[in-house]
Amino acid sequence: TKESVKGFLRRNLFVLLTIAAVALGVMLGFALRPHNLTLREIKYFAFPGELLMRMLQMLVLPLIVSSLVTGISSLDSKASGKMGMRAVAYYMVTTLIAVFIGIVIVIVIKPGKGHRDSPVASSGTIEPVHAADAFLDLIRNMFPPNLVEACFKQVREFTSTGTYPKVLWGKKELQLLWIKVNIMRMVVLLLLQETVVEMIPVSGSSNGVNALGLVVFSMCFGLVIGSMKQQGQALRDFFDCLNEAIMRLVAIVIWYAPVGILFLIAAKIVEMKNLAEVGGQLGMYTVSVIVGLLIHGLFVLPLLYFLVTRKNPYTFMAGLLQALITALGTSSSSATLPITFRCLEENNRVDKRVTRFILPVGATINMDGTALYEAVAAIFIAQVNDMELNFGQILTISITATAASIGAAGIPQAGLVTMVIVLTSVGLPTEDITLIIAVDWFLDRLRTTTNVLGDSIGAGIVEHLSRQELQSQDVEVGNSVIEE
Ligand code: ASP
Repeated sequence: TKESVKGFLRRNLFVLLTIAAVALGVMLGFALRPHNLTLREIKYFAFPGELLMRMLQMLVLPLIVSSLVTGISSLDSKASGKMGMRAVAYYMVTTLIAVFIGIVIVIVIKPGKGHRDSPVASSGTIEPVHAADAFLDLIRNMFPPNLVEACFKQVREFTSTGTYPKVLWGKKELQLLWIKVNIMRMVVLLLLQETVVEMIPVSGSSNGVNALGLVVFSMCFGLVIGSMKQQGQALRDFFDCLNEAIMRLVAIVIWYAPVGILFLIAAKIVEMKNLAEVGGQLGMYTVSVIVGLLIHGLFVLPLLYFLVTRKNPYTFMAGLLQALITALGTSSSSATLPITFRCLEENNRVDKRVTRFILPVGATINMDGTALYEAVAAIFIAQVNDMELNFGQILTISITATAASIGAAGIPQAGLVTMVIVLTSVGLPTEDITLIIAVDWFLDRLRTTTNVLGDSIGAGIVEHLSRQELQSQDVEVGNSVIEE
C-alpha cells in the first residue's frame, strides 16, 4: 500500500498542489484581510499571480495559431468538416440548455422581487453605434490586413476609438473590462435592424488580440497546407514542431501555476468588499447564478457526456481539475487554454487532432456559463424594475444571451459588458448593470470555470463521435505523425 500511495501522489502531484494552493490562498487571504493593506501593497502581494496570468497569455497566441494549423492540416477536409459541424452542434445545444436552465431558475427563485435596494448610476453623453457599421467591422476583423497587427489589435473604422458602455464609463476598475464590439453582438444588432446601442467612445483604450482574425486565417492556412501533399510537408512539420514546443513551455509553466493561483486567490480575497453586505436581492441573484451553474456543470454536461460516450463523466472531469481551478483563479478561459490542452491530452488522452482543432475555437465562442449568467442577470434586472416579461421577450433574451456569450471574449468580466446587448434587446435600462457589478468578479470566476468545462467535455464528445474518421485517417497515414 505504501507503493500505491506513492504512485497516487506521483500521478496526482499537480492536482494536489493546485488544490493545496487554493486552500492556502483562501487562508492567507482571510488572514491578511484584517490588516487593511493599501492598494499598492495588494498589488505587490498579487505580483506572483500577475506573472502567471502574463505567462499564460504569452502562450495563448502561438498556441492558437499552431494548434489550429496543425490540427486542420493533419485531417482531410472531409473529416475536419464533419468534426467542425459536430463541434458547432454541441456548442449550440449546450449553450441553449444553459440559457434555459438560467431562465427557469431565475423565474422560480425570483431574486429581484420586492423593492430595489441599490442606487443607480447616472449616465453620460451618447455616441451611437449603428448595426451596419459594427457588422462591417466584424467582417473587417475576419480578414486582418496585417497578421502581426492582428496579434494585438482589432481593426475598427467606424467605431475607431472603441466603444464602451456609458454605464461603465469613469469606473476605473471597469475600464479594464473594455471589450471590442464583436461577433454575434453585431450580427444580432443587424438582425434587430439598426437598433442603436448607447455607447460612448473611450480614448486610449487597449486593443486586445483579434482572435477571430487569427482563427479564420489559421483555419484557411491549415486547410491549404493540408492539401499540398509533399510540397506542404515542410510547413506541416514546422507548425507541428512549433505546437509541440509551445506545449513543452506549457509544461514548464504548469510547475509555476500553483504558486500563481495561490496569490491570485489570496490577493482577491484581501481586496474584495465585505461579502456580508451583499444581502437581499443581490444575494439571491448570486445564489440563482450559482445554482444554475452547478446544475449545468455537475449534472447536465456530465449526463450529456455519459449519454454520448457511455463513459464515466466524473472520471473525465477529475482529469480536468487543474484547468478548472486555473479558470477559477484567472477568470479567463483563453488564459486557461494552455492548461486545458494539457489536461485533455495528458490526463484524459483525448486525441490531439481533436483538441488542436476544437479547443481554440471553443475557447473563443463556446461559453455556457456566460450565457446562463447573461439570461439570469437580464431577467433579474427586469424583476428589479417590476417589469413583466412576456414569452416573446424571454425568447429574445435567450437568443441574445446566447449571442452575447458567443461574442464575449475569453477575458475577465467580458460577459458583463456584452450584456448591454441583452438588456437593450428587450428595452431594459443598461445603467442597471451597476446593480450586479459588486458580485461580478466572483460570478465571473464561476462562469469561466463552467465555460472551460463545456469546452473540454465538448472535445471529449466530438472525439467520441469522430472516432470513425480518426481511425480511417490512421489507416491512411499508416500511424499518423501526431501520434508520436
Ligand atoms: N471571463 C469569462 C471567460 O473568460 C467571460 C465572461 O466574462 O463571461 O470565459
